[in-house]
Amino acid sequence: MVDRPRECRARVTGRRLLAPDIIEIDLQMLEPSALAFSAGQWVSVPFGPKTVRAYSIASAPSSPSRVTLCADVAPDGIGSRWFRALAAGDEVSFKGPLGGFVWSSGDSRRPVFAAEEIGIVPIRSILLDLETISFNRPALLVYWARDPGWLAYDDELRSLARRHSWFAYHPVVGQGGGGWSGLVGTPGEIVDRLVPDVTGLVAYVAGGEATIKLVRDVLRTKGLDRKAVKWEKFW
Ligand SMILES: Cc1cc2nc3c(=O)[nH]c(=O)nc-3n(C[C@H](O)[C@H](O)[C@H](O)COP(=O)(O)OP(=O)(O)OC[C@H]3O[C@@H](n4cnc5c(N)ncnc54)[C@H](O)[C@@H]3O)c2cc1C
Repeated sequence: MVDRPRECRARVTGRRLLAPDIIEIDLQMLEPSALAFSAGQWVSVPFGPKTVRAYSIASAPSSPSRVTLCADVAPDGIGSRWFRALAAGDEVSFKGPLGGFVWSSGDSRRPVFAAEEIGIVPIRSILLDLETISFNRPALLVYWARDPGWLAYDDELRSLARRHSWFAYHPVVGQGGGGWSGLVGTPGEIVDRLVPDVTGLVAYVAGGEATIKLVRDVLRTKGLDRKAVKWEKFW
């Protein structure tokens, strides 16, 4: 069930640096006092009559009065500069919730998630939601970043995998180093290796267009129907 978007106001109550260029902010909803949304949805922040930037909700729908956003501010455009400048006490306006990159509780297929860098944000919300509803079917996440420093939420996702046998977590980096002993490769290669069989599978892919296309092609080559791949293109 996807809720209708509406104009919203909220106050910044927290700000954390997850990596040198990755900022997480907590928002206390003011109007409405609680934002009903589905895990995976995003909000639209206006910067002018025809200029908006989208930010996925990182938190779970189970806490609708306090929502968290998370941004990679390295692009350094209008959205990144706005996000970087946010401080506790600031009031922000946006429209939401928006988007159909959502988990449907009635879906009996087994989910495979693939995230490229900050594309993890909507998938994090979905995974938190799955934990809340005591999900118990196999779910797999391939989370790619250029190097380990860009794997925001890595500790949290490792912890989720330790707590729940249904969740298989596979962080992968383009370039190792710094004591990294995990997977090194591209998202396409790792999905190819870890998903031998696409029977009864639904895929959620978020990140840049090139990666979405690569992962989608890998899965489609194995026989997955086009409609069984949901994607959210951040850039
Ligand atoms: C549905 C949706 C949800 C999104 N959710 C998030 C989110 O949760 N967090 C988040 O950080 N961004 C998210 N984005 C991207 C976000 O809307 C902005 O595009 C981003 O913050 C850059 O905006 P900017 O004004 O700073 O740079 P712009 O001037 O808009 O972009 C500069 C260039 O950088 C590219 N770019 C944008 N983001 C990245 C990136 N992460 N890595 C590499 N290149 C990039 C753009 O395509 C463009 O070519 C989302 C986008 C969409 C469409």
